[in-house]
Amino acid sequence: MGEKADSELVRRQNRRIVLDALRQRGNLARVELGRATGLSPASITAISAQLIEDKIIEEVDEPMGSALTGKRGRPIVRLSLRAEATHVAVVKISIDAVSMMLADFQGRVTAERAFRIPTYGSEQATFGETLAATLASFIEEHRGKSGVARVGIAVQGLADSRSGSINWSPVFRARHVPIAPAIEKRLQVPVMVVNDANMIAEGLLSMDRESYGGNTAVVFLGYGVGMGLILNGAVYHGATGAASEFGHMNHLPDGALCRCGRKGCLEAYAADYAILRTAYGTPQDEPRMSAVDPAQMIELMNKAKAGDTVALNAYEAAGTALGFGIARTIALLNPDRIILAGPGTRALELIEPAMHRAIKDGVVDEISRHVTIEHVSFDKDMIARGTIDALLRGLVRDVFSQGPSRASATHMEFAK
Ligand SMILES: [Zn+2]
Repeated sequence: MGEKADSELVRRQNRRIVLDALRQRGNLARVELGRATGLSPASITAISAQLIEDKIIEEVDEPMGSALTGKRGRPIVRLSLRAEATHVAVVKISIDAVSMMLADFQGRVTAERAFRIPTYGSEQATFGETLAATLASFIEEHRGKSGVARVGIAVQGLADSRSGSINWSPVFRARHVPIAPAIEKRLQVPVMVVNDANMIAEGLLSMDRESYGGNTAVVFLGYGVGMGLILNGAVYHGATGAASEFGHMNHLPDGALCRCGRKGCLEAYAADYAILRTAYGTPQDEPRMSAVDPAQMIELMNKAKAGDTVALNAYEAAGTALGFGIARTIALLNPDRIILAGPGTRALELIEPAMHRAIKDGVVDEISRHVTIEHVSFDKDMIARGTIDALLRGLVRDVFSQGPSRASATHMEFAK
């Protein structure tokens, strides 16, 4: 590699380091940016001047103010990502419902709407087209001709990042539903199809890299059971984006019927529908395909808390399946943390005793004692946040760190 190519590579790397620091830490003065990145003052000056010229970042005056005295000090000039530098779109698909949002370069949601689009009864071939048309008019309405630079589609189930299709999801009756091609064709931008639990892991990373940046398994509990896996500080997606399908690991050979069509999956004991099925004595080979009403889960939880034995047993069965699954995860990966997330954690106190017993039975103490098991509240929309963050990180890596000629090129250039 020649000297010129070498310095070009360093320049790109430094642009990326600066942009990632601003994405992760918010606005920073040049001195703060130097401290955060380890780059020299001369490099920071040169890179920031170029990024300002490229209209990717901008200077903002912020009051220095002391929290201690409450006095407002002299304004300090900080560098900020320019919100208008780019926009991305996020689509979340659930059973017969789709929500769409737009976010700017600072990650702020600028538009959001829910649509009723049939998924479960829809034909495999038409869903992608319908989604593409709805998304195109949503973007047009809010962004006009400016459009978006990337689209992320988050869905429960097996997302195939290579083909941009959803190979299996409880949201669809059909298998191998192509999603990305119709949208890419219509909008001429790259489309990423991802598993929603992986995006919760991305969301946690973007919220608190210090805490979750090591080896963390995020277990999603709710309408399904999923996992997002952070290994060595990055979300692990596997060969085709289907890694860590925790909910569809086998809990009991030939056991209860799962929505994926197999028997004995962990999810078939620990997802909302499974807990309901056990509690109401519905045969375990009876699948449940419609969405569970959250009110029904709250009612069941209250019954259990009031001492209803049948309801309590259903949560215990869920806790046992979950605990053995976590034990296997601990034995396999030796993680720092297991984080429980999702609406299912509202009944955590009913699940936890059996879960901890199963972990104790399932893996030797010497490994499990180093693992912290916590839960996070599910008030924030972490799936959306994680998807937005993954899209923006990709844009910084592939577009904005490349230099002025690439950064100012049209979005079409980056379409697959
Ligand atoms: Zn399954």
